[in-house]
Amino acid sequence: MFKKILIANRAEIACRIIRTCKELGISTVAVFSDSDMDSPAVKMADESVYLGASAAAESYLSQQKIIQAALTTGADALHPGYGFLSENANFASSLQNTGITFIGPDPESIAAMGDKIESKKIAQEAKVNTVPGHLGVVDTAENAIEISRDIGFPVMIKASAGGGGKGMRIAYAESEVSDCFRLAVNEAKTSFDDDRIFIEKYIEQPRHIEIQILADNFGNVVHLGERECSIQRRHQKVIEEAPSVALDSETRDAMGKQACDLAKAVKYRSAGTVEFIVDQYGKFYFLEMNTRLQVEHPVTEMVTGLDLVELMIRVASGEKLSFTQDDVMINGWAIESRVYAEDPKRNFLPSIGRLTHYKPPEEKEGSVRIDSGVMEGSEISIFYDPMISKLITYGEDRKEAIDRMKSALDKYYIRGTANNASFLAAVISHTKFLEGQLSTNFISDEFPDGFMSVQPISEVKNRIIAATVLMYMRIKNRQENVINRFDSFCIRENQEFVVSMNNELTEVRVTSGQDNKILIGKDTEIEIISNWKIGDVLLVACISGKTYTFQIDRKNPGYVITHGGIELEIRVFSRRAAALLSVMPEKIALDKSKSLISPMPGLLVSISVESGDKVRTGEELAIVEAMKMENILYSSSDGTVKRVLAAPGDSLAVDQVILEFE
Ligand code: ADP
Ligand code: ADP
Ligand code: MG
Repeated sequence: MFKKILIANRAEIACRIIRTCKELGISTVAVFSDSDMDSPAVKMADESVYLGASAAAESYLSQQKIIQAALTTGADALHPGYGFLSENANFASSLQNTGITFIGPDPESIAAMGDKIESKKIAQEAKVNTVPGHLGVVDTAENAIEISRDIGFPVMIKASAGGGGKGMRIAYAESEVSDCFRLAVNEAKTSFDDDRIFIEKYIEQPRHIEIQILADNFGNVVHLGERECSIQRRHQKVIEEAPSVALDSETRDAMGKQACDLAKAVKYRSAGTVEFIVDQYGKFYFLEMNTRLQVEHPVTEMVTGLDLVELMIRVASGEKLSFTQDDVMINGWAIESRVYAEDPKRNFLPSIGRLTHYKPPEEKEGSVRIDSGVMEGSEISIFYDPMISKLITYGEDRKEAIDRMKSALDKYYIRGTANNASFLAAVISHTKFLEGQLSTNFISDEFPDGFMSVQPISEVKNRIIAATVLMYMRIKNRQENVINRFDSFCIRENQEFVVSMNNELTEVRVTSGQDNKILIGKDTEIEIISNWKIGDVLLVACISGKTYTFQIDRKNPGYVITHGGIELEIRVFSRRAAALLSVMPEKIALDKSKSLISPMPGLLVSISVESGDKVRTGEELAIVEAMKMENILYSSSDGTVKRVLAAPGDSLAVDQVILEFE
């Protein structure tokens, strides 16, 4: 067994790997860049080595610096985590001459599977079902149009070196092919330094289901069942679960067998994942193989009781797998939510900044697990993936896992950057999600206008009103005590309020003092008990016998309450004040139609117009790059450009004006 492992990664996955090393009694070396100086991973590891500047190329992608760090600290093995150098065959082979063991597959298997075109060819030979398409490099837009026509629309234009959902575009018609091709090429070039593109059929309304495999040096290959990762935005997973409601045991066995066959075909060793898409008829097709530990590996760990990092380490150290396929048991259900610093109200654009408040829910052995690599005060920077943590819940069945996820998300308090916690709660509370009716279009189909449109059902609405009134009474009570400090004045029964929620007014009356019973509207009486105090950001209340958590933020002149995937601006008025509301002047929103504003912080790549140009609706105006994604900004109306206020290469702030129209 290894004595010392260097973890060539950062954030949650570095912490995750260190945890298992500690359990196995192996010492650990963390590596870090400027922005990760005080990160939890650095604190957890026995030793740490500074790599360099924050840009990944200067730190986590610098092969030479990382190998040097392993040599100086005397590490005998290296775990690459995911992303960064984890699927870099060249890196794995450089390590071979240093005596440091790479905890992962051979460079040959990485190379064979790292390229989507090559891996598809190998999969075909191994009799694995593949997506119909053209198995070769497409080098011009004309070529792309011709091939797409042959395949039949819609088609998926993909980077052969792709990963993380980047360099991938769907074309529904011939007219879209050349734009899609150009964007895919650019993205592939900037993200992977490899602009080879291929085209395959776009499978409509598919589910993403993948098989976790594990193989040792002795030819033993097992699979650990499936994970369904259909809940995606921008072709990137956000919620994953194991098992999948969509598979019957026959399909599961067939997919498992094909995954193992593919692993054998490339003499695979270590943990790996074979990704499939499954169409509406249950037919499955190979997408790609990831030759590394996957972000969503915890759900498999929860249902199999296995530690995948431990198994990877054991296999790399030369141990034989200690179990066979028949020993693998899937028990219960696990769900993972990826908590990202991104704004679901702005098309899931990454958000950066300091986590001014970070209070994760409590972990519970066997039912709530949090894999995180941040703490209060950590900074989410532009340099890396904006994932904050992974929240994993387990239950005897799917419903229990979902209920636990809901309650944990309600308690997850993150401020300082935008985050998707309440969006995740909205997804898992969605009826279709509960019914297991998933597809990779789930988010775009069910939340077509983004996150804004979610409206609470009346039960949830009443719960939120009750919590708000309780809070309001406590605040008011204190204010009045301060003013009138010798009088222990209390909120009286029959006190009446009007609660405004998204501009909808509801009358509320306290029917029994001591905050206990509240009449909402005409006929809903709710009992609410809570020991919430002023200043607590979480209000935990027992409402009609059940415990719920609400997040409370002061937002003058009212509050924002977050609960059950819903964020509401809410205000409490006296009857008199509410009556005067109708005569208050309305605030007029700024007219943004006369300018092109940057929808996100990013880099201005290009501007395609000059002052004086006449533009038509739908015409390209500029390209903004954020987190390695290029986004075209189109004109939303016909007009004439008055002034251009930014230049290519400029860093743009969100809402910064790029150009003005006449
Ligand atoms: P897939 O490649 O199929 O999307 P995963 O869902 O496991 O597989 O996502 C892995 C992705 O996470 C990588 O492709 C990369 O974009 C991103 N990533 C890389 N390094 C890190 C990191 N240290 N922390 C968070 N995300 C990362
Ligand atoms: P990456 O390496 O970026 O993870 P994948 O090939 O695994 O790339 O695809 C990522 C996601 O894109 C899939 O989970 C699926 O949602 C979607 N996708 C990829 N190829 C297709 C296709 N041919 N048809 C439909 N969806 C696809
Ligand atoms: Mg993939």
